[in-house]
Parts: sequence; structure tokens; C-alpha cells
Amino acid sequence: MLNFPENACFSRMKRKVIVIGAGITGMALAAFLAKEDFLVEIFEKHDQPGGRARRISTDQFSFDLGPQVIFLPEILEFFFNHFSHPEYLLPELERMDPSYRVFNNNSEVFDIPGEPKKMESFFMKYSPSGISNLNKYLERGRQDYAGITEKGDYFKGDSGPCSFLTKLFTTSHDTYVSKLFRDYHLVNLLQDHYPLVNQNIRDNSSLKFALNYSFLTRGVLYPKGGMQNLIHAFTRILDELNVPIHVSSPVESFDIIDDKVAGIITHGKNFHADYFVSAMDYRHTEQQLPKEYRNYSEYSWEPGDKTGSSFIFYLVIKKKLKNLAVNNIIYTRGLHKRPGVRDKSDLPVIHVTCPSKHNQQLAPEGMETLIIRTMVPTSIEDTGKIREHYFEKSIRWIEETSGESIQNHVIFKKTLAHTDFEVEFGTYQGLPFGWMNSQYSLNKKNKKMVNMKLQNLLYGEYPVLAGLGISSAVISGQVVAQELARIAGT
Ligand SMILES: Cc1cc2nc3c(=O)[nH]c(=O)nc-3n(C[C@H](O)[C@H](O)[C@H](O)COP(=O)(O)OP(=O)(O)OC[C@H]3O[C@@H](n4cnc5c(N)ncnc54)[C@H](O)[C@@H]3O)c2cc1C
Repeated sequence: MLNFPENACFSRMKRKVIVIGAGITGMALAAFLAKEDFLVEIFEKHDQPGGRARRISTDQFSFDLGPQVIFLPEILEFFFNHFSHPEYLLPELERMDPSYRVFNNNSEVFDIPGEPKKMESFFMKYSPSGISNLNKYLERGRQDYAGITEKGDYFKGDSGPCSFLTKLFTTSHDTYVSKLFRDYHLVNLLQDHYPLVNQNIRDNSSLKFALNYSFLTRGVLYPKGGMQNLIHAFTRILDELNVPIHVSSPVESFDIIDDKVAGIITHGKNFHADYFVSAMDYRHTEQQLPKEYRNYSEYSWEPGDKTGSSFIFYLVIKKKLKNLAVNNIIYTRGLHKRPGVRDKSDLPVIHVTCPSKHNQQLAPEGMETLIIRTMVPTSIEDTGKIREHYFEKSIRWIEETSGESIQNHVIFKKTLAHTDFEVEFGTYQGLPFGWMNSQYSLNKKNKKMVNMKLQNLLYGEYPVLAGLGISSAVISGQVVAQELARIAGT
């Protein structure tokens, strides 16, 4: 991982930084800065930290709103080691086995194993030279994986500014895979396993190799007790570093004096600092600035890719579901058709998570919590009727492929659509994954980390690696904290 500049000297007079947003990015960023001797405070709009990773609960059941699994756990391990103290340990990361269950249309059901030994058998089942080619693939993947986890070589990722030469000499991941494997179970696993995260990762070699290496060797992981425990672990680090999180404090505007941000306004009060980092959605931040201080014109945000949002249904089912695993994917059009977000048909893929199967505290005995995520275009109208259409259609698919009756046993239902994500998190066009879309709309150039007109304002939501969610947020926090330390130290 990256190091902070050795000669950065902050001890003369502590500089104050206000971080806006207590999602993973904001909390990671604040922790890195506080450790570097900045005085840091966080202002959060909601009444609890966690952002998209926070929990919603009733007195009987709970849902982790967004992320369900951790990819590239090494990034989180690095973060917690950096703040090593027995009190704020990373919660145990439990491996899912199977990693996920695949429902290939109505034609077959198979499990992607979580354990490496079972993974070998999976490869052998579908290819005579499965193990030797798997080893070849892993050997190749180890380099990119090490680049990211050991050397901090994040910028080779899909969203990073790959140099022309890097691109020229890097073999396409998907071509490499199709040379090693013919069987669609294996090809699909290596080329498209990302649906659990999102499906917008293009064929960028380094990122796909690294993600798959981690996935094949460590599996899909879940923090013991749920994402809530991960958020608690972050807040314990912040407590120890004396970083207050002011919850229920929405930042309404910036107070700008002489081309510098002098303060943020929340509930009509002005809070001053030397530096400000917005860890909210990039465009949302820009919209709170007068036009002349924005890095990008409204035109730049026009989406390049109209797909990529979701309708998400959170359900409680009054029975146990035997035929579903914790993570399930239904390919309604069949695996071999290479489904994904760029498949413009209606509902090509349905993600079904049954978190209570792994974490029984989430639902009362004899019941199950179920999260259904459908991929829809961001342009889709959000009406009760359209939500219901997708709900009915998804439930029908789940019942048909899994053989479980579900709809008659639903005792609780909450729906989140792109319009809710826009209101709740200020994400552009309500994209659950936020910056993915803006990255595309800016012609895949990296967005600027520092406001070009207000030199003491930085953006925490800095796209480093696409598709990694939580791990990416931690990396963003570190990269932006490092940049602020550099600016403040000079
Ligand atoms: C449905 C879904 C499933 C996902 N699944 C996974 C997964 O399985 N694995 C994975 O790794 N990742 C997953 N992700 C992605 C992951 O949740 C995000 O990448 C990560 O949580 C983003 O963190 P962040 O801090 O950058 O943004 P956020 O979590 O959005 O944090 C931004 C914070 O800013 C606050 N804020 C906004 N406006 C204001 C304001 N005006 N004033 C003050 N505060 C404000 C918000 O309340 C929020 O707390 C998923 C996301 C979603 C939505």
C-alpha cells in the first residue's frame, strides 16, 4: 500500500480537516488523516455512519442495505493492520461455501465452490486439463494481485489511467481465458463472475486477473455478524483517534471566501477548517458549489452507459428456504449468452441473497431475509406499477428455478429504487454504485481529486478500481488522504 511522505511535518500546528460523509470512504480517509496528525471531524447526513453499507432494522429483523460480501479482503486487512490495536480488530471474515449458486435459466443449477480444493474439482469436472490450466491462470493472476495488494499498484485497474504502453503489452484477460478454457461454466466464471459486485467491469486484464485470483483462492467473504460489525470496527478506530462523527448533520452548502472554502453549512451553522474533503458522491458535491467553482460542467455528467441501476426488494419470508444458497444468481437468458448489464433485454440477471442463511440473527427463527436485486436502466421510470412489474417477474423466476414457493410467505417488503438512492445517498441518477457511471461519462478519464478552483477542497470519491466496492472505498480514502498530506506538507 502507499506510504505517506516521510518529511510531512504536521506537528508544528495541527491542521483541521472536515470530512463530509461517514461512508467507508469518509471513515477510512478520516482515520488515515488523524493518524497523520490532522485534527479531523466528520459530518454525516444520516443518523448513523456506514452510508450504503449501513443496516436497516425493525425490532424483529435486519438487513444490510448494500454490500453483502467482501472482495479483495487484503485491502481491509491492510487497513486494520495499519491501525493495529487489539481493540479495533477487523471482524472475522467468513468464507461462503458455496460462493454462489447459479441458476442457469431453467436448464441447470450448480454451485461455485468456496473452498480451493472444491474449486479444483469444479475445474476438473468441466475440463480434462482443468487443474493444470487453473494453475496456469492463477500463476498469471498472482502478478496482478500482488501488484494491487503488495505494491499499491491500483492505477492499472479499469478506471485507472493505464498508459498506452501498459495497454499495448497487456494480453486481454478474456482472450487469455478463452485460450485456456472452452467450457461455458468455467469461461463464464472467469469472465463474468462479477455480477455479485456489478457488471460494468470491462475487459481490463489487471483488474480481472487480480479479482479472480483473490476470488479463486480466498472465495467470497462476509464479516461475522454482518456489515454492521465492520462499520462498528471503523467507528472504534475513529473513536480511538478522537475523530468525532456528527450524525444527522447534512452539509447544505459551502462558505467560500477568496477562492477558498472557509466552512461548511449544516443546520444553518458554519463550521470552519483548513481543508475539506467531500466523501459524498462527486456530482452531488459539485452541485452544492456555485457553478464557477465546479470542476465539471453539467454536460460532462451525461451518462455514457444508460444501464446499471437496480430495483432492490428486501423481504422477510415466513418459512425457511431450502433450495437457495446465501448468494444466488439467476441467468434468465442462459449462461452461454454472456448475460450482463450490456445485455439490453429485460431482466437478464437476478441476484438473490439470503443473508439469514449465514447470519441467523437477521431474522426470527423459522424465517428468512431475502434481498432481490434486479438490474435496470437508470433511465427507467420509477412508478409503483413498474416496481411491482419487476417484483412479480423476479419472484416468478425465483420460484420457478428454485422450486420454492415464496410470494405467499412474504410478511415484510421494502423496495429501494434508483430514485431512493438519489435521495438517500445523492448518487448520480440513483446509481447504487455511484461513481461507476460518472467515470464512464467522463470518457473513462480519472476525475480530478482536487477542486481546481478551490485548492483546499478535495473529493474523496476518487475512482481507483472499479467493482471492488468496500475495498475500493478504503483505497480511495488512503489515496486522497495521502494527496491531502502532500498538499498540506508543502
Ligand atoms: C445494493 C448494493 C450492493 C452492494 N454490494 C456490494 C458488495 O457486495 N461488496 C462490496 O464491496 N460493495 C458493494 N456495494 C458497494 C459499496 O456499498 C460502496 O462501494 C461503498 O459502501 C461506498 O462507500 P462510500 O463511502 O464511497 O459511499 P457512501 O456509502 O454512499 O457514503 C457517502 C456518505 O455521505 C453521506 N452524505 C451524502 N450527502 C451528504 C450531505 N449532504 N451531508 C453529509 N453527508 C452526506 C451519505 O449519507 C453517506 O453516509 C454495494 C452497494 C449497493 C448500493
